[in-house]
Amino acid sequence: MKLHSNRMYIGKNDKGRKIRQWLILYFSLFVFLSTVGILIFLIQRDRNNQEDTMSVVAKQEEAVPDIQAASANTVSTLDREETRTALVEKANDLADGHDIDGAIQLIKNTVGYEKYNDCKDMISRLEKEKGRLVPADVLQIPHIFFHPLIYDTDLAFKNNKDSSSVESLNTAMTTVDEFNEILNQLYKNKYVLVSIHDAAEVITMKNGKKKLKNGKIMLPPGMKPIIISQDDVSYYEKWNGKGIANRIVMDKNGKPTCEVDLADGSTITGDYDLAPLLERFIEKHPDFSYRGARAILAVTGREGVWGYRTSKYLPGEDSDSKINSEKEFDINSAECKKAIAVSQGLRNAGYDLASHSFVHEGLGRCSMHLIKYDTKRWEKEVESIIGESDIMIYPKGEDIEHGEDGYKYVNSNQRFQKLSEAGFLFFCNVDGNNAAWTMMENKYYRQARVALDGNVMYYQKNKLKQFYGLKVSKIWDKNRPKKPPLTTY
Ligand SMILES: [Zn+2]
Repeated sequence: MKLHSNRMYIGKNDKGRKIRQWLILYFSLFVFLSTVGILIFLIQRDRNNQEDTMSVVAKQEEAVPDIQAASANTVSTLDREETRTALVEKANDLADGHDIDGAIQLIKNTVGYEKYNDCKDMISRLEKEKGRLVPADVLQIPHIFFHPLIYDTDLAFKNNKDSSSVESLNTAMTTVDEFNEILNQLYKNKYVLVSIHDAAEVITMKNGKKKLKNGKIMLPPGMKPIIISQDDVSYYEKWNGKGIANRIVMDKNGKPTCEVDLADGSTITGDYDLAPLLERFIEKHPDFSYRGARAILAVTGREGVWGYRTSKYLPGEDSDSKINSEKEFDINSAECKKAIAVSQGLRNAGYDLASHSFVHEGLGRCSMHLIKYDTKRWEKEVESIIGESDIMIYPKGEDIEHGEDGYKYVNSNQRFQKLSEAGFLFFCNVDGNNAAWTMMENKYYRQARVALDGNVMYYQKNKLKQFYGLKVSKIWDKNRPKKPPLTTY
């Protein structure tokens, strides 16, 4: 009843207060909703502002280093002096790497460049530089080669208890210090590293077949092209603990570097072989590399590639049906995945990847059966990892023709037929008789290579001086045993 009387009380005696209360409620609701609305509006506006600021920063950041993007933009992009400076610097970098056409194109493709004197001056400087360039003779390019380098001479020589290993390392290898000095001298003697694919251009015809034609290498007067290759970049187990790197890995900048497994079980990473040392040298001397050229790296498959144990081969198994280690190959294994990533990284960094055969038998004298077996395993277990390659770096330097066909590869040569079918167009042997030797036909670019190893440096130092102006007395590593055994190439 009390409740009832209360209701009566409100209803009857205070109608005005009720209305006021409703008004207060409506007003409070209005204030609340307005505040929420204003808050949402403020937050949204702040977020938009932030995004705008971010996009301005992003645009500014893009504009300076990425000139290609700027070139697609409007004239106003070039109003800023720093954008033009970045453009000219980028063109300079291309010109340093001998890509003068690319440098000119870069500026000319930037909309509105004609309005600015700094851009026009750069073009006229580049045009002048281009006018001075001289075509190199692509059939007279020296080709030098190395094996994996010795980074620790104590492990390779002084503390190496295996005397036959000491002899073979002293004969066939080059040390890190020697390699660095060879690069210094080559650079001083005006050599420029080119790719074998700069020397001969591969043309794919309508029927899908490939043929070669002379490449065009344009260099400043006095500069000379040179090709560098490295054999057996598979890092065989016989070199473990003997002062040679264990594998290639890619660093955080996408450049090749090496890992070494030490005796105490730890692993160190650094410039312990040719590829990373070449990177360091080109960082310092960009004009040593013609349009981004790097070395040719050649691998066999019998112990895997780049130091990853992706394959196994047992001596003689090609003729013994009871042994078949091929069955153990698994393209999805962890080792294969690492080797695939390294191969891609090397290609991206400018390296040419080559076959050094699967088994490492001389292809000139072995049976045709072995060549077929070798090619099959190469394709299945190495090409599947490193990608297609058209370069054959002959194992043991042994060519497949010995003068009987006038030093030409003729179609009736079954070995050539087999390798040609497998996609090879560039064939490199070993022959230290000339500074440079090349033979080129539609279906092949064939080249002799000169080893810059202990044996050649010791016994043929005069030739190296005469061929390339190399001073072996300044190159020779004093930590080598005095005299390597005499071997002829
Ligand atoms: Zn080899």
